[in-house]
Amino acid sequence: MKSPARMILATGCALGLLSAPTAAWSAEQPRPAATTTPKPAAKPSAKAKSVDCTKVKCIALTFDDGPGKYADKLLDTLKKHDAKATFFLEGQYVKARPAFAKRMVVEGHDIGNHSYTHPKFTETSAEKIREELQKTQDVVKQATGKYPTTIRPPYGLLDDDTRVIATEMKMPIVLWNGGSRDWATRNEKAIYDEVLKNARRDGVILMHDWVAQTVTVMPKLLTELKKRGYHVVAVSSLPGTKSLKPGEVYPAGSEKDGDLSTDSPTADQNASAESPSDGS
Ligand SMILES: [Zn+2]
Repeated sequence: MKSPARMILATGCALGLLSAPTAAWSAEQPRPAATTTPKPAAKPSAKAKSVDCTKVKCIALTFDDGPGKYADKLLDTLKKHDAKATFFLEGQYVKARPAFAKRMVVEGHDIGNHSYTHPKFTETSAEKIREELQKTQDVVKQATGKYPTTIRPPYGLLDDDTRVIATEMKMPIVLWNGGSRDWATRNEKAIYDEVLKNARRDGVILMHDWVAQTVTVMPKLLTELKKRGYHVVAVSSLPGTKSLKPGEVYPAGSEKDGDLSTDSPTADQNASAESPSDGS
């Protein structure tokens, strides 16, 4: 793996999670349907029912670099299994596949900002990071009617600039604590085994919707997760995200986990895996 070790941040993220909620992130999240008057017919799948992850076992599957060319098929599977996901979208692919991004929002999935062209933020000027993120905010809003509410920096790499900019943009940073290595193995059984190995209550799993095998193994994986008692939810449903502040990193302390960089493809692999002009 060529990814440099991620920057170690001195700030104690766990402390922030215990403090009082702030409005920025919470207020922008879709609220569970339980306390609101159901609206007739429109978007029935988006908020059909809420899952209380303080009461049941939850896990969040997250998909980076999309919308990938297999996103449509993945969305069909998620719908069939009544599962919600989080998509960390790359602005350039939202521009190429706006209909997929729109469908993600309509069907109740979370959308996060994964930059426009996938540079390493640790090697990028603050000005350019800001531009990458803002361009993606704008293109997602244009395609879906909503702004992304979280940031996942490419390769999970971040430094103080990223945190400052995320704070300015009023968004928390969401990384992961379980990989699938789907981009490396490209093998259904290996992906299935790796996800189940890393599955834990309230875990955040990193996957990619441009890996065909990830999408083809998903029905089997969702069936098994359900059998093991998991509810597959969007990141914003996890209890630990409720009081996240802008600029804060979730899962707490994940940015210090050097092993995480091996979960993410290198720049070369990432670039060869997808093309905005194919698939749709
Ligand atoms: Zn990525």
